[in-house]
Formats: sequence, C-alpha cells, structure tokens
Amino acid sequence: MKAAAAAGSTGLAAMRAEALTIPDPPCDAVLKLSCQEGRIPIKDLNGKLDFLEKHGYTGMEPGGRDLPERVTELEKSLGGRTVKLSAICAGFEGVIISPDEAERRKAVESMKRIMTAAGALGSTGLIIVPAFNNQPQLEHKEARSMLVDLLGELGEHGTRVNSRILLEPLNRNEAYFLRLVADAAAICRDVNSPAICCMGDFWHMTWEETSDMGAFLSAGSYLHHVHIASRKTRNMPGEDDGDDYTDGFRGLKIIGYHDYISLECGTKGDPLILIPAAAALIRRQWEMA
Ligand code: MG
Repeated sequence: MKAAAAAGSTGLAAMRAEALTIPDPPCDAVLKLSCQEGRIPIKDLNGKLDFLEKHGYTGMEPGGRDLPERVTELEKSLGGRTVKLSAICAGFEGVIISPDEAERRKAVESMKRIMTAAGALGSTGLIIVPAFNNQPQLEHKEARSMLVDLLGELGEHGTRVNSRILLEPLNRNEAYFLRLVADAAAICRDVNSPAICCMGDFWHMTWEETSDMGAFLSAGSYLHHVHIASRKTRNMPGEDDGDDYTDGFRGLKIIGYHDYISLECGTKGDPLILIPAAAALIRRQWEMA
C-alpha cells in the first residue's frame, strides 16, 4: 500500500507517494533486542557483551562521544559474536539548528566524525536530536529549513561512509523542535537521502503521540531504531504497572521493521536481573502484537 497517495496527483502529494511505502502484504518483521552500553553494570567491555549474549540481546548501543577512539577496541571485542553494534547514541558537539553558524558547523563536523566510526563498525546509524530546550532557539520554519539543508550534507557523508543519521523526536519537556515521529519522517522525506532516517522512543511517544502504531506507520521505511523504557517513570520495561508496547509492536510488524529495539532507561532495581526480565516482557508482547 502506498501511504497517503493521491492518485494521479503531482508535486508534493506525488513525492509523498514515492517516499513512504508500507509493505503489502506486510513482510516479516524481526525482533532484535539491544541495550545501551552504560545501562549494563559491568566494567569490562567483553563482560558486558557476554552478559547481553547470554540473555538473547543481539545489539549494544554505545555513546558517540569517544567512538572514533574506540573503533579498534570495539572491533576486537565484537569479532565472532552474535552481538553487534545497534545505533550510536549522540555524543556530538554543537547544535545543528543553532542561530550561531559556528555552532552549526561544529555539530555537522562532529557528527561526520562519529558517522565515519559508526560506519566502520557496522552500526545502524547515529542518533541525533536537533536541539534541546536549554539551547538557543530559532523560529520553527527557519530551523526546519536549516536542518534540511545540513542533513543533505550529512546524507552525502553517510552514503560515503556507510552510515546514517537517525533523527530522534523528544517530548516537549526536553525539546521545543521535533516531537512527533511523523514530523521526523517528513524531514527525512524532504532531505531525500538514504542516509537520513529516523527513530521512535516509546518514552517520548507516551507523552506526544496519539497512537504508537500510527506513529510507526507514519515513519514506515524511514524508521531504523527504537528506544524503549517503562511508560510512566522511564525505568526498565515492566517496572511500571501496565507497561504496554503491543500497539506500537503491531505497527512495527506492519512496516516489516527489522532494526533494533534498545533499552534506554533508568531502574530502581538490579539491572542484572531486570535486563533479562525486560527481554522476556518485550518478547511476550511482541508475540501478542
Ligand atoms: Mg531516546
């Protein structure tokens, strides 16, 4: 099915019909579990990877800040394992939609360095947030236009180094710009580069989206990463009563999602017990969806 296609239309409607496709019939989605590196309370990198493998996780999500310096270490530890790198979580400098051009250039160059390392390590992409609420703000239309331009440059770099940008919408308490998954997907459509994609984070989606399934359907083939946490307190999935991801998982199944669902959360308990418990909960709800 072509989403939102207007038959026989031209211009923007035709571009939209070309950009977002949902498999029909839905292709087989795959559940791949990932966990942020810093969430695992084990000091040694090989110890962390052993722990994830033991509990059925096939992805680890490191931060981007020191990734260029860690390429050799990570390559060595990941060799021969079932665990791969999933996405790379931010860690760049600057602000890509800053009113200050020097800040914008700093962001773009810093993101390029991390993307190069991410590509060398076979990661699924670099997660970025265009701006946080505590950073200097631009008027929305100007910010969006600036972002689309700079993402074009990052898209060209990503294509060269086999990496991607993953735009992450946040909730209103954290970001004034980019709060809906569909908005991220529309920016990807406008940039029109295979290296500019987006993600969804169940925690932020709890507060912003009217439908988890609708949000993922709106992102379709642009969606290449998902963050997950408990829905009321951003702890481990299952730590809040009633944590339910089935509506979103149904959407992921419909779009044939085959990238990672990654733990980005705190915890009030013991992560060595709750990381395996979260995997069991996610598997159970994925089957139900
Ligand atoms: Mg997140």
